[in-house]
Amino acid sequence: MDCLFCKIAAGEIPSEKVYEDDTVLAFRDIDPQAPFHVLIIPKEHMESAAVVTPQNSGVVAHMAEVAAILAKENGLTGGFRLVSNCGADAMQSVPHLHVHMLAGRLLGWPPG
Ligand code: AMP
Repeated sequence: MDCLFCKIAAGEIPSEKVYEDDTVLAFRDIDPQAPFHVLIIPKEHMESAAVVTPQNSGVVAHMAEVAAILAKENGLTGGFRLVSNCGADAMQSVPHLHVHMLAGRLLGWPPG
């Protein structure tokens, strides 16, 4: 499948990994929007949050666990933001489910 994040998960395209296990990978965003900006992805291809079902939601819950692990490991005591762009209006640019984890500065709201 011609999917950028599947290729990163398979190690075919390099990434700066910060966490990996059997089902989930986290790596630094190539265009960081905050001092800490990591993408958390399921290794198995899922297009977006729009295709989460009772059958595949386990890995999505695990992605939230990984965020909590990363927050502890990286000392993100000031907090962090998780956001997943889903579809055209949200300007999703890579059609493989990913959660942006942002931290290290005051994050404005609404995001614009
Ligand atoms: P989104 O626009 O929500 O789909 O987010 C896609 C994100 O992937 C953007 O923040 C990009 O900077 C990031 N990105 C694209 N290519 C790479 C790459 N090769 N390695 C790391 N991050 C990437």
